[in-house]
Amino acid sequence: MGKALHDCIYVIKDEKEPQRYDKSSVHFLIDGANSHLTNNGDRPKDKVALSKSIFNLMSEYEKNGPTNQLINELTKFLEPVRYQCIIQRINRKLVTFHVAHLQHHPDPGILACYLFSNMVSLGWLENLKRCQSSECNKFFLGRSNVKWCSKTCGSRARVKKMRKKNKNYI
Ligand SMILES: [Zn+2]
Repeated sequence: MGKALHDCIYVIKDEKEPQRYDKSSVHFLIDGANSHLTNNGDRPKDKVALSKSIFNLMSEYEKNGPTNQLINELTKFLEPVRYQCIIQRINRKLVTFHVAHLQHHPDPGILACYLFSNMVSLGWLENLKRCQSSECNKFFLGRSNVKWCSKTCGSRARVKKMRKKNKNYI
């Protein structure tokens, strides 16, 4: 299936400069979701709420895929967002961008749904996985046969398995 949107996403925040997102921004989204797993004590309330919203969307998507429930939730949150089509010339080609107009301090739920749904529709979260280490559980992007987010988590899990196995023989 062809891409619905160009690889760049702009968000307009009132009179401030629009913010542009590209594929590298997907890691910020994943880091945002993962920060929900760590201690949130010192973080500002809106950042905590944003992390929680992204975390919940990613959990549902990673576990069950694009269910009706997920689509309904995204639709509900994105209903107030207005879009504008902007045309630009890039390397002698005409390219259209869809610009979302969001409030200066957007509702964390709306921002999370907007970023998440855009990045999913562009295929940027196709390899979204969850680390199988019970002490970690972080989201990451990886091939289908990769179970852990890092070498550290992989070797920790192997040591744990080995210990369990040895225990059974004693
Ligand atoms: Zn991990």
